[in-house]
Amino acid sequence: MANFYEDNPDLQYYFKKGLDWGPLVELTEYLYRAPDAHPTAQEAVEFYESILEMMGGFTAEQVAPVTAAIDTQHPALDNGDVVFPPVLQEIMDQLKELELHGMCLPRELGGMNCPYLVSLPVVEMLARADVSVAAHVGFHGGMALAALVLSIYEESTEFDREKNQIGSTRFADMIAEIVAGEAWGSMDITEPGAGSDMAALATRAEQDDQGQWRLTGTKIFITSGHAKYHFVVAKTETPKENDAFSGLNDLSMFLVKTYEDIDGERVRYAHFDKLEDKLGHHGSATVAVRFENSPGELIGARGQGFRLMLLLMNNARLGVGFESLGICEAAWRLARDYAQERPSMGKTIDKHEMIAEYLEGMETTIQGLRAIAMEGAWHEEMSHKIHLMLKYMPPTEAGEKQRMEAALARHQRISRRLTPLVKYMGSEGAVDIAQRCIQIHGGYGYITEYGAEKLLRDAMVLPIYEGTSQIQSLMVTKDSLLGVIKNPAGFLRDTVSASWRSWFATDSAERRVARLQRRRLGVMRYLMRRLALAKLRGGVGSFADWDPKRDFALAMLHAERLMLISIDVAVSEVLLAQAQRHPERKPILERYLEQAEPRCWHLQHVITTTGDRLLATLQQPAGEGKEALVAART
Ligand SMILES: Cc1cc2nc3c(=O)[nH]c(=O)nc-3n(C[C@H](O)[C@H](O)[C@H](O)COP(=O)(O)OP(=O)(O)OC[C@H]3O[C@@H](n4cnc5c(N)ncnc54)[C@H](O)[C@@H]3O)c2cc1C
Repeated sequence: MANFYEDNPDLQYYFKKGLDWGPLVELTEYLYRAPDAHPTAQEAVEFYESILEMMGGFTAEQVAPVTAAIDTQHPALDNGDVVFPPVLQEIMDQLKELELHGMCLPRELGGMNCPYLVSLPVVEMLARADVSVAAHVGFHGGMALAALVLSIYEESTEFDREKNQIGSTRFADMIAEIVAGEAWGSMDITEPGAGSDMAALATRAEQDDQGQWRLTGTKIFITSGHAKYHFVVAKTETPKENDAFSGLNDLSMFLVKTYEDIDGERVRYAHFDKLEDKLGHHGSATVAVRFENSPGELIGARGQGFRLMLLLMNNARLGVGFESLGICEAAWRLARDYAQERPSMGKTIDKHEMIAEYLEGMETTIQGLRAIAMEGAWHEEMSHKIHLMLKYMPPTEAGEKQRMEAALARHQRISRRLTPLVKYMGSEGAVDIAQRCIQIHGGYGYITEYGAEKLLRDAMVLPIYEGTSQIQSLMVTKDSLLGVIKNPAGFLRDTVSASWRSWFATDSAERRVARLQRRRLGVMRYLMRRLALAKLRGGVGSFADWDPKRDFALAMLHAERLMLISIDVAVSEVLLAQAQRHPERKPILERYLEQAEPRCWHLQHVITTTGDRLLATLQQPAGEGKEALVAART
């Protein structure tokens, strides 16, 4: 029997020894000190693995064999409702029977109380079978968890201290329906005129005479938007003058139901006008949703919509990282199996040097990606759980409280650093590996017979949704450079430490990783020096009043390059830590460094030698800049 967990030793590594499950299980199980908690961390992890084994079999045996049918039999719009084809409906029915939608919800809400970190490899395995199914399934349990997180944040969840469990929570009905597999939710942000630029959102929410919020506007490209429950971001405030963040601070978040049954009559509040026809990702319905004076419940306070969305974003982006891992695994394995069979010029093509290098590179990228994805997800979840602990069960001893607050800050910092890297590396890596998979299949890759082209079509949305690759790169660059401005002494310390280790560390792998760190810090130093010089020459303001939009043009131009270097540094750091604990991981680190070292050298060279000409053209008045660009190209 095929099994996507049992055939994947790299994935198993993280459950058998790669991750420190102890503290996470401790926080997950004993936060509530529930009577039915797993008695030890080991037993808890054995339980998590049993779920992965079960889902490994389900994804390999029930989903993967029908992926071609999912690709050709699409959801359809029928009289204002979206209908799934039988092949997809059957998978959803089976998942409902497995009762997995509540996997990560507390037991008192009908869940299994597993860490979110267990659901992410499930996403990966589903995505290895079919990424669109993984995406749709994510809008079940994922949205129930989002409802709980939002309710905790706005303090509408009460904790029963006697029973050590949640006593009541605002969205309990919605959560119960989702856990039972009867409903799901969607996240409705994008509009025809506003995608990356959320400040441009136009959907409005206003209170009527009875104080009821009512929403009007159209959202587009909404994954699983035929949901019963919609988390909608809408404008409630009037833009303020001289507020750099006006636009984002004008947004609020609402829960809108698609319909309500009142006195036996169904009253509809969300209208599904259009189902998008897409390049791939066909098992997931992408819906245009119209709200017309639709009643909505405000979540949190007015003007907090953007902040609340960010609260959910890290998990969503990690989720895309794991979807990407699934496609990478599928593409690499398909290519490897084909290459081992296909003869050319006296040997199978996997023995030809270039193809052998492609296949090894694909496997190494996957192992590196999984390393930062698991690490990032672990820190993200640790931070959420410590936050909950401090909120509901703060330690009475001052020293212990301080220790937990310091741990919280550390986990938040690492998760904030790793999450955009995981989203970028995963999504771009999936496109790259799927394209290589086609190339390795030759003509058979371009025709539909082997399914290689489907993987590329499915992968291509990953760098777009949940924040495009360019937006991730901008975030990483701004975080990195503002970090230097806020803490120059820390930057200097990091530089001295990396230099010292790059010369004197006893382990040669550690010296190589330190050299990569030094290269990244050198790039940041170069960008800061150039930005400071430009600011001095322009005589604009003081160094205390940096304006990212105005002052960071060169850094924004090179943001994607800094992102790529940051990924290589982060992956190498995590693989080094693994190799130091488990020597059998050392070959993975060495293979990764072989790729990363020349890549970072090249990127640094491009950053430090290019950009001025293009930036000069952008600074000219609109028409002239365009002409100069055309002239420079011809
Ligand atoms: C299949 C699918 C499912 C989706 N699911 C959802 C969903 O469930 N909910 C939801 O709300 N949305 C969803 N989306 C929408 C998705 O999040 C947006 O498409 C995405 O945020 C990009 O917005 P846009 O399409 O308006 O492109 P734009 O924002 O117009 O961007 C176009 C290009 O310009 C680049 N760009 C924009 N601004 C900058 C900048 N400052 N610097 C450099 N480059 C920039 C972008 O990176 C991109 O390459 C989905 C989209 C698709 C295709």
